[in-house]
Order: sequence, then structure tokens, then C-alpha cells
Amino acid sequence: MTTTSILRMTSTFLRSSSRYPLGESRVEVRFTDSTDPDLAVGAAPDGPRYCWSHFTVHPCTWLRQVHGRRVVRVDRPGQHAGALADGVITAVTGAALAVVVADCAPIALISSDAVGVVHGGWRGLEAGVLGASVAKMRQVASGPISARLGPCIHGECYEFGRQDLDRLVRRFGPSVQSRTTWGTPALDLPEVVRIELRRHGVTLEKSQADEDRCTACGPSLWSFRARRDRQRQGVVAWIEPLHRES
Ligand SMILES: [Zn+2]
Repeated sequence: MTTTSILRMTSTFLRSSSRYPLGESRVEVRFTDSTDPDLAVGAAPDGPRYCWSHFTVHPCTWLRQVHGRRVVRVDRPGQHAGALADGVITAVTGAALAVVVADCAPIALISSDAVGVVHGGWRGLEAGVLGASVAKMRQVASGPISARLGPCIHGECYEFGRQDLDRLVRRFGPSVQSRTTWGTPALDLPEVVRIELRRHGVTLEKSQADEDRCTACGPSLWSFRARRDRQRQGVVAWIEPLHRES
């Protein structure tokens, strides 16, 4: 039995756990869902710290997300916790980073020696938060950057105003236009993320189930748009030190 299948049996969120070996350390990326503790800021008695400690032993930088393009850089574990920002990156080992979402796209950026997480709502993406996060990560990362996209709302459920949609089509191209299952104009949010990543030279990792899950119509996910859920899932990522056996 592989480690992955053992983890699958013990906890749902670990299904989404990925490990990237980086020589003497590795990047851990975990997408959570509604079977995990609620990650909404203010949900737990001890604040976000309680929630995050469920997923990682490392001090966590969480954000007060404002749908903007500000990105913070973490140089020591826990630094900038609660900052007003929508992206956070680090090259420091043992510093967990997190963003929370209901329908917006949780995005992890991964390089050989750095990691980042981004809150990818349409307003932030339009404002350029993904490009700003990649640029900030390049200041500390060596080598190429790849990305993982977690569950977010998909076109078939994401009815969108014509005026906003037209502006996003001009910005990102016609492929971001979609249609809801009930026939109204819609935004293909995962496509916006894919286009932005491509524009900034970042490869989106394929063959991962998270990207295919829609928060509005998929199982075990919070959706503000579909159900006015106040709870949040999210992505938590960090660089884990490796201890050599030999
Ligand atoms: Zn859907």
C-alpha cells in the first residue's frame, strides 16, 4: 500500500495532499473541503490558529483577503499573519501559508525552493494578483514555477453580469466565457486562472482531481454563490524540512 492510499483512508483532506521533493526539503500542498474544519477567519474559538494547526505543525500566515493584488513575502514562520493581502509567498522552511475560499480559486505556486498561495477571485485576478504573486515569488525562487488549482466554482454554475463578463473577455480572451446549465452568461473561472498562469510562464500541473471539482455543484465543498455558506475551505502549503536517514 502506498503512503497516498493510507492517507486516503484516514482523512479526506489528505486526499488532496501533494508532496514535491526538493532535495533536502519538500513542498506540501493541501486543499481542504467541507469534511475538514471550517477555515473561515473567526470560525474557531482560538481564531485561525486552531484551524491551521489541524493541517500543519508550522506557524501559519493567513490573510485578510480583500480581492486586491497585494502579495506579502514571509521571511520567518508566521510573519504577516492576518495581513490585508490576497497572495503570500515564502522561501523559508517551516512557514505555512494559507488562503480560504468558498467559490474563488485557491492556487498554489511551487518551485524548487519556494512556495506561494493565491486567493483567485475574479476581482483579484482582474487586478493582477496572480501575476503579482508569480513576480514576487521569482524574487526568491530559482528555477521554473508550477501551479496547482483547487476546487472553485465552474462555468456551468457561475452566472455573471454581461458588463463584467465583457470586460473580462477583453482582458483574458473569449475562452473565459461560459454558460450556466440554465442558459445564462457565465464566467469560466478555471480558464481565467489557466490563461493568467500561461501569461506569466507558469505550468499548471495536470491530472489532479481538485481542479475538476466545482464548489457549487460538487460534493463536500462550501459555496457562497450556491448556498450562501459562511464556511470556507482553502489551501495550506509550506516547505517541509527533510531529515536524511544516512
Ligand atoms: Zn458546478
